[in-house]
Amino acid sequence: MGFIDTHCHLNLIENKYEIIDSFDENDIEYVVEVGINVENSFKNIELSNKYEKIYCSVGIHPTDSKGLTSKDFDTINVLAKNEKVIAIGEIGLDYYWKNVSKEDQYKSFINQLNIAKENKLPVILHVREAYEDVFNILINEGIPDNLGVVHCFSSNWSMAKKFLDLGFYIGIDGPITFKNNNTLVEVVRNTPIEYILPETDSPFLTPVPFRGKKNKPIYVKYIIEKIAEIKNINIVNASRILLENSKKLFSKII
Ligand SMILES: [Zn+2]
Repeated sequence: MGFIDTHCHLNLIENKYEIIDSFDENDIEYVVEVGINVENSFKNIELSNKYEKIYCSVGIHPTDSKGLTSKDFDTINVLAKNEKVIAIGEIGLDYYWKNVSKEDQYKSFINQLNIAKENKLPVILHVREAYEDVFNILINEGIPDNLGVVHCFSSNWSMAKKFLDLGFYIGIDGPITFKNNNTLVEVVRNTPIEYILPETDSPFLTPVPFRGKKNKPIYVKYIIEKIAEIKNINIVNASRILLENSKKLFSKII
């Protein structure tokens, strides 16, 4: 049995090397280290080039999108050509933090959608309180041929269906293990398992039973366990299918 964590931020974790060294004994097959800004994207490439099991994405998070220039986007475009870069992300819109204007966020999102298209890469979408607008931008700008995942999905089933109908995958994180998360359980129940990707978003969003502590990619098994339980299949099958899904979307993973 092998697990994949399709969304983590090891470069934001202090003892990352210790965690990486524990991947083998915890059946971690692959992890995807996701970019949040230009500097972090450089670091992600460096880390993924060092470890076979680590792939990465490059991109600028919506809350890091203040006052970006064409030079920033050019840099992401160049970094996107690295062998271990499997996606552009995380990109999208975040209306929760309110530290970056909507205009700056639109500019960043649209520019990076075009980088994904140019490089034939899927996108990793970060969407917070902005599902309608992200959906409309995708429709207006054109869906990237290589599609993408709605990372850490946190809306309801009818919204999930809209993205699934576009061909997008649904990223499921630690909150699926929290009590009384009926809306998300319904999303997982209704989404075909072939369109679900397991993510930790570590060091954030730690699943039960480690909620309250710092998250790490090896905890992805608790998320996969919960998905298996909702789908009424065993964890061996669930982890195999989820790994296949991930390799299908992120086709540069070998
Ligand atoms: Zn993230």
